[in-house]
Amino acid sequence: VAARRFVVGGNWKMNGDHATIDGIIAFLNQSGGNSDVDIIVSPPAPYLTYVKEHIKNNILVAAQNCYKVAKGAFTGEISPAMIKDLGLQWVILGHSERRHVFGESDCLIAEKTVHALESGLNVIFCIGEKLDEREAGKTKEVNFRQLQAIVDKKVDWSKIVIAYEPVWAIGTGKTASPEQAQEAHESIREFLKEKVSQDVAASTRIIYGGSVTADNAAELGKKGDIDGFLVGGASLKPDFVKIINARS
Ligand code: PEP
Repeated sequence: VAARRFVVGGNWKMNGDHATIDGIIAFLNQSGGNSDVDIIVSPPAPYLTYVKEHIKNNILVAAQNCYKVAKGAFTGEISPAMIKDLGLQWVILGHSERRHVFGESDCLIAEKTVHALESGLNVIFCIGEKLDEREAGKTKEVNFRQLQAIVDKKVDWSKIVIAYEPVWAIGTGKTASPEQAQEAHESIREFLKEKVSQDVAASTRIIYGGSVTADNAAELGKKGDIDGFLVGGASLKPDFVKIINARS
């Protein structure tokens, strides 16, 4: 199995306007990218085309969400077919804000994932436990349950990046320690080995998200099962370039 390529995603969430997005595009375009890293930025849906047209070709652009069918009477939703039609290849699904602010279930997220993959998109599939679940010793149980929903669907794992994002670490400034993150990533890889295959376990990229900054990225990135990051707040700032280069 080939080495897992480092991947760093920037989830802008519901932030940005043309002026601030121009600033982000400027520092990313100036940085020259990093030929050893897959860089994926995820602007709000109204700006997907604008970002795609202005950002360097070696930086990929992802939607932050999509629905589970191609078209129809689903006011407010966007489909994988539309994301593809914009010339994009990636979507984030199952982000903790979708799960916990908008109440998306494991089942709905699995259906969306299957449809996105069948439509030809790659998926950043987010999982992670809440604080009370970690404190109750249920971290693995929650991660495995969220993953099992797509294991049951027999998906194409070569098109999936798993983002382990403990909910207590997202937007809180409380980053998981490199040891905590590595422990979770290792258990997720072990789960893939048991439930899917040795090959999928070895080749699937598992990235960490939750208050990643330019200061903590290097230590996290040294851990054997951490294959990159999904970054929220810090992806809006020039420090994002340092996170992209954390392993270099
Ligand atoms: C995220 O939104 O996926 C995230 C990890 O946010 P932050 O980096 O701001 O914690």
